[in-house]
Amino acid sequence: MLQFTGSEELYQKTKEYLALGVSSGIRMASDPILYFERADGPYYYDVDGNEFIDYTLAWGPLILGSNHPAINSAVIDQLGKSYTLGAQHRLEPKLSELMVKSIPGVEQVIFSNTGTEAVQAAMRICKTYTNRTKVVKFEGHYHGWLSNILVSYHPSKAQLGAPAASCGGQYENDFSDLIILPWNDLEALKTVFQKYGDDIACVISEPILANSGSCMPKAGYLEGIVDICKEYGAVSVFDEVITGFRIALGGAREYFGVIPDMSIYAKAMAGGFTMSGIGSTQEILSVLAEGKTIHAGTYNGTSHNLAAAIATIETLSQDGMYEKMHGYGQELRAHIEKEATKNGIQLVTTGVGSVFSVHFGLDNPPLDYEAVMGADVALYKRFHNAMLHNNVLLLPDGRWYIGASHTEKELERTMKAVTKVLKHLH
Ligand code: PMP
Repeated sequence: MLQFTGSEELYQKTKEYLALGVSSGIRMASDPILYFERADGPYYYDVDGNEFIDYTLAWGPLILGSNHPAINSAVIDQLGKSYTLGAQHRLEPKLSELMVKSIPGVEQVIFSNTGTEAVQAAMRICKTYTNRTKVVKFEGHYHGWLSNILVSYHPSKAQLGAPAASCGGQYENDFSDLIILPWNDLEALKTVFQKYGDDIACVISEPILANSGSCMPKAGYLEGIVDICKEYGAVSVFDEVITGFRIALGGAREYFGVIPDMSIYAKAMAGGFTMSGIGSTQEILSVLAEGKTIHAGTYNGTSHNLAAAIATIETLSQDGMYEKMHGYGQELRAHIEKEATKNGIQLVTTGVGSVFSVHFGLDNPPLDYEAVMGADVALYKRFHNAMLHNNVLLLPDGRWYIGASHTEKELERTMKAVTKVLKHLH
């Protein structure tokens, strides 16, 4: 068994002064709460001297791993020239052009810092462009922590079917413009458009439901969202904060060959630096240039973050990057499934190679949040803990991220750990 006494001491001390003890509420789900000294490539090193092969990738951003030479040199070089400028610089045309050339159907972009704020900008732009108020959002999908959208994120069974607040201090008038629907159900979407079609500004969807079990879209579903939006003059928005630059350089647009009106990017886009953005058509984004609405932010376009994004995207553009990540992910998934079967454990995996989820206790790949609710979360928790004690760091919710820094060596060690852990998991 690994020892975590240094982490435990730091957590007790932190709790005295840092209100929650952690810096993002969602990290409370990690057990134990670990403190890290450093990270290098695909490895995390905690304060107790334990080494972990990391599959959290910091909840997605670390697509190239940590301490990556291309990102380091781009950022360090930029730091010698400027921090944030609150003004224009040469990396803005460079990154925007790189994004437009990398992502199918994107004509222009805007920059911000987090996924949460990019989602807010997206909704405001859609509402301005359409001159409408309503937003369609799906159960189980996460689009940031603000009150107008953190709705029906992880509702209970009793809360399904109607907008449900996800936390305290969030009231119905915070989200009175939201329509909540089950995902992967085109008929439900059509029915809502028949009723409210003239009022719907946009439909926002994760193209793969990564935040709730990495559910895949049914054949034709994403196209269906785009088509219905077109028919009614609403804007189709893919929230690609997870899928962007992860499932392909051009994200879900490239992977599925479906072009929505707008996509939102963050996480993998800048390899661990604070960067988000929106990609859309020039026509839709013209509401900004025409002064019909505003998008602002002191730290938008911060130069070293743009440098990190450029280095990340250029590195990801090299041949074979995505094939390798998807290949390792598929190998891992196959191994987990095979070892589970060998040990009489029921489980399924869902998603793609570079981001997938493991669901204990399910017979079929879940296709929406309600189906994901049937998984044996307690058993995953035990699996997660046992993997941790075998030096493999996973997210607490069943999701695995594969990055470009994982190699055969980590894959082999991880598969050995999976074999060992599943053998004793009863
Ligand atoms: N959208 C999606 C799909 C996300 O996964 C996340 C973060 N997990 C967000 C938006 C919010 O991004 P951030 O945490 O950078 O604010």
